[in-house]
Amino acid sequence: MTKPVSVIIIGGGHNGLVCATYLARAGYSVDLIEARDIVGGGSSPYYFAEGYRTPGLAHVIYGLNRKICRDLNIDLSTIIGEVSTVALDLDGKHIRLARDEVFGSTLSSKDQDAYKTFKREFRAYTKALEPLMMNTPPRLKDMDRGDKFTLAKLGWSLRFGLGADSMREFLRVGGINIFDVLNELFDSPALKGALSVDAVLGQHMGPRTPNTVLTFLHRLWGERQNQLSLSAVSLVTAKLETAARNAGVRIKTSAPVKRILVKNERAYGVELASGERFSGDIVVSNADAKTTFLDLIGAEHLDAMFCHRVNAIRQNGDVAKLHFAVNQLPDFKALSDDKKDTRLLIAPDMRYVEHAFNHAKYGEFSEHPVLEMTIPSLADASLAPPGHHVLSVNASFAPYKLEAGWESSRDAFVQRVVETITNYATNFSDSIVATELLTPEDIERRFNIKGGHWHQGEMGIDQLFMMRPVHGAAQYEAPLNGLFLCGASTHPGGGITGVPGHNAAQRILRGVVK
Ligand SMILES: Cc1cc2nc3c(=O)[nH]c(=O)nc-3n(C[C@H](O)[C@H](O)[C@H](O)COP(=O)(O)OP(=O)(O)OC[C@H]3O[C@@H](n4cnc5c(N)ncnc54)[C@H](O)[C@@H]3O)c2cc1C
Repeated sequence: MTKPVSVIIIGGGHNGLVCATYLARAGYSVDLIEARDIVGGGSSPYYFAEGYRTPGLAHVIYGLNRKICRDLNIDLSTIIGEVSTVALDLDGKHIRLARDEVFGSTLSSKDQDAYKTFKREFRAYTKALEPLMMNTPPRLKDMDRGDKFTLAKLGWSLRFGLGADSMREFLRVGGINIFDVLNELFDSPALKGALSVDAVLGQHMGPRTPNTVLTFLHRLWGERQNQLSLSAVSLVTAKLETAARNAGVRIKTSAPVKRILVKNERAYGVELASGERFSGDIVVSNADAKTTFLDLIGAEHLDAMFCHRVNAIRQNGDVAKLHFAVNQLPDFKALSDDKKDTRLLIAPDMRYVEHAFNHAKYGEFSEHPVLEMTIPSLADASLAPPGHHVLSVNASFAPYKLEAGWESSRDAFVQRVVETITNYATNFSDSIVATELLTPEDIERRFNIKGGHWHQGEMGIDQLFMMRPVHGAAQYEAPLNGLFLCGASTHPGGGITGVPGHNAAQRILRGVVK
């Protein structure tokens, strides 16, 4: 019998778990080493106040990939369900955006029809991009058969999957911004405001930033995957962990990796902060690219130009996470309690979103932040004591490098967020029992993501596809023998999708180990 290939995976985020499970199921011997006391990374639950739990940084699963769930036998039957979006209105004239339809008394029938067409067409674009999303991005130089095949499939899918007219339109809108596209299609400021959030959430971008159609498509791609209810966030990580353990993955938590061991230009293991060492035939890092290359390997083992490119990756986060323990549900005007089990947005129009972003450009937090909220305790009552609730809020924009420094600005920012919510739900500020603020700096420290960035790296066009995270490491393979990447800093980026973990595993299984 031949000895199985041994693999060390650094980090047990959901992508690390997915990658580990594929490799273990293929017969590799896998050790997964996680710094925190729990696996799941951005999708791991914890108590933020006594008696109150959050499902994690991530509070909505936008697109856990269908193929991965099928391959790994992840049973989602109890958590299937659509999370629609309610764009809150001060006067209670909210609009509700579902997958294919939009509802609201202020909407014209023209806008409602245009929404259906828009979603159909834009989802078709995401379908056409599928061959690129689910594969290693092709190299542009020294292509092998796999690279050529992926490019051919992509070309075929764009030209013949879409058809000539649709492809032309895709090429026209693909490079412009979501602000112009939405203005061409819709009249309702509230509808445009809500849609534009999906293009900028987690990015250092406003609706007018070029490239926001691509980021919108990245988010929309999730709609072609499993639609999961709000209760999914708490359960998906547990299901992924179980799948990994069942496949034979050995998981070690509370074990930060201090460095990747390198000899003769080959990664052969890791050393933990405790001094303990693990060796393996290959090392796969779920940590972001900057952490992996600059902290865990070190410039001495890498080409100077490559280090320069890694150093230049833009990955300063712009979203703060807030958790509020409350003793009653927020009384949003004209929104009954049974309609609050969904995604709630404060982004009344695109101008509001753009102005919120303007502050971030100058190192300030938004005067009027864009808020994406959920009440996870409505889906999972165990998150709060009886009668109480948890309000989970993604607040944009809150730059990592705040000019005034976060230490002296925390209370003012929380105050700003509380005031914004209280404008829409007058009982909110008096209902707060406990508050947690995680600035991008806190996220960096607590979740081990440099810059605290949603996607472990900005989704700018220069950091996408065959340039993600950087040229020289864009095929999940580092410029160091035996080292691979599998986290959100690789193609096709972040969100709880599992796709970087899947693609990295496929790359490794194709036998590219040098
Ligand atoms: C504020 C915020 C809100 C978000 N909300 C959502 C949302 O609602 N929906 C959604 O889909 N996405 C959301 N995201 C994005 C999502 O959380 C990430 O894209 C996703 O977690 C990336 O998964 P990953 O497995 O690649 O990496 P991570 O989840 O970052 O996991 C990486 C793991 O590696 C570990 N690690 C790092 N360095 C080391 C080391 N040296 N030694 C050992 N272990 C190490 C980390 O501790 C971590 O567990 C949000 C992100 C942020 C910042």
